[in-house]
Amino acid sequence: MIIFGSGGDVVHLGQTETKYCPVCERDRTFSLVLHYRFSHVYYLFGMVEKRQYFDVCDVCNRGEKLDRKEVERQLGRVPIPFMRRFGCLVAILLLVLFGVISVLTSH
Ligand SMILES: [Zn+2]
Repeated sequence: MIIFGSGGDVVHLGQTETKYCPVCERDRTFSLVLHYRFSHVYYLFGMVEKRQYFDVCDVCNRGEKLDRKEVERQLGRVPIPFMRRFGCLVAILLLVLFGVISVLTSH
């Protein structure tokens, strides 16, 4: 039986700046936050479906959506665990490798 499903996670990437929050109506610290959703097979081999960055107020958690490409250019990386991001590719590679090995050893 193949077990698969999906999930979501939030990654806090540190404080950005202190500025006026229109929801709190006062100056607040803001943080860069990544929201993402992923699918997985056997909870291990993942594939990210959607990712969005937000600059949110630390108190009310409201804020604005940021441009993904711009944020990732500044970060220089995508802060999602490797297996959640590329796990599906790893699974395919393992299947191919297993197939090659079984062909090679069957002669
Ligand atoms: Zn606020």
